[in-house]
Amino acid sequence: MNDLAVNRQTFDEVMVPVFSPASFVPARGAGSRLWDTEGREYVDFTGGIAVTALGHSHPELVRVLHEQGEKLWHVSNAYTNEPVLRLAKRLEALTFADRAFFANSGAEANEAALKLARRVALERHGADKIEIISFTQSFHGRTLFTVSVGGQPKYAEGFGPVPAGITHLPYNDIEAARAAIGPKTCAVIVEPIQGEGGVLPADPAFLRALREACDAHGALLIFDEVQTGVGRTGHFYAYMDTGVTPDILTTAKSLGNGFPIGAMLTTKEIAAHFKVGVHGTTYGGNPLGAAIADKVVELVSDPALLEGVKQRSARLTAKLEAIGKRFELFKEVRGKGLLIGAELVTAYAGRAKDFVNAAAKHGVMLLIAGPDVLRFAPSLVIPESDIDEGLARLEKAIEEVTGATADAAAR
Ligand SMILES: *Cc1c(COP(=O)(O)O)cnc(C)c1O
Repeated sequence: MNDLAVNRQTFDEVMVPVFSPASFVPARGAGSRLWDTEGREYVDFTGGIAVTALGHSHPELVRVLHEQGEKLWHVSNAYTNEPVLRLAKRLEALTFADRAFFANSGAEANEAALKLARRVALERHGADKIEIISFTQSFHGRTLFTVSVGGQPKYAEGFGPVPAGITHLPYNDIEAARAAIGPKTCAVIVEPIQGEGGVLPADPAFLRALREACDAHGALLIFDEVQTGVGRTGHFYAYMDTGVTPDILTTAKSLGNGFPIGAMLTTKEIAAHFKVGVHGTTYGGNPLGAAIADKVVELVSDPALLEGVKQRSARLTAKLEAIGKRFELFKEVRGKGLLIGAELVTAYAGRAKDFVNAAAKHGVMLLIAGPDVLRFAPSLVIPESDIDEGLARLEKAIEEVTGATADAAAR
């Protein structure tokens, strides 16, 4: 029998080393608090990377998990099921979309979107219209297609030939987009806020220019809302506050609050280019995931909850700005709703990870978005008292990191 005693060290012995997880091992969560295997408690500002929108072990979600778990988990897409049909109806009532395809992750939702865009262009315009335009620093997932479309070359290099017909442009550069989008453009894919790339919001005028250029050239506009979707910005989807409607929207992360599920939403006309057998998945839209996501969407789309996101955002942002002033630490605090980035001043450039590590020691979990940005993506229902407590702990961590630097500089 296996030795069942495991710890952080075990990771290095049994796992493919593509991650470098924190030194502690989370064991239990409730709301926005988390406990590790040693019983130490943390305030969670990461939300599992913008995933646990309703916090850990939300009672309503636990109830649905149990109820559906006792009924039916999986039947494959040779059959449909009631939870997935309800979820599709709910998402379509909330959005521009009237067709949905379910997958298990953000990357798979984007893979479906990109394949659909290529198929639409082929059938409507012919074999030359294959160019996909995306933006530098963007992130769309880790499959070979999505990593090639993503704007961080280091993620796509070293795996042999990548799919052809992909162009990267600078984000928020209207002139570059107008110049590049043309008759060969099949689709433009954009994050309304670049999450992994540094919490960089798109200019509404930039998104409008993309919409106009796509319309002028018969290209599809894809919004990757994997990180910004499901209430994250204080709107159910970020596009709703931009005045721009995409042709295809992808969503995942918060959609299942930690149960893996992603979706591609689109219109009936576009969806009609995917015929039976053209694309597929074994797990996507299974009744267990769909039942949970349906409850997540029901709870998060409540206007009172979305209003609460804006209030929490204002509190977190104001307090971060004050901390930034006090320690002369942040160049800028930016983002929207509860997707907030604090960019470090030049003196601390490249050291975001040091702050994250120090924060963990002081009992608060946060994320980076590149080497210079601290990222906050907590639960959308995080109590204000947890925001305050988490930031108090963060201040102690900042004192430690900046104090250490001052000492080193004095030496
Ligand atoms: C996280 C993320 C993805 C990838 O989602 P996975 O579930 O990890 O495949 C894609 N796009 C954006 C914008 C993301 O933030």
